[in-house]
Amino acid sequence: MSQRPVYIILEWQEQGPLETPGSRLWREERMVCTPYDYPERLPCSNPQCNSGGFEIGDRIASLLASGKSSDQNSLVCRNAIDSDRTKRCMHTIIYSITRVRPYQRQKPPIVASDSTISTSHR
Ligand SMILES: [Zn+2]
Repeated sequence: MSQRPVYIILEWQEQGPLETPGSRLWREERMVCTPYDYPERLPCSNPQCNSGGFEIGDRIASLLASGKSSDQNSLVCRNAIDSDRTKRCMHTIIYSITRVRPYQRQKPPIVASDSTISTSHR
């Protein structure tokens, strides 16, 4: 039996430093990927920030390993944005990772592990 495909829906909003949610949104994106081609990092939108980004790959890997279906959290870009490295980018993303099994809707996961609970149904 081949494994059913699993998709990962990645949604994120990027804000600059000292900005409250919604006051200025640099980027709002949604991406669908799989456990085999998800991005290691998301690009930073700060025009002053060269090669900065958000290390989302580790978070996706740990979600996949944990067996949970979704995770929401934030990541900060700590890339230095000037030559003497005293100023850091500090753009933040608020992300949501959702694992989707395409055929799961018709067959919800069975939670009960104690067999004595479900015997009365049959
Ligand atoms: Zn950055």
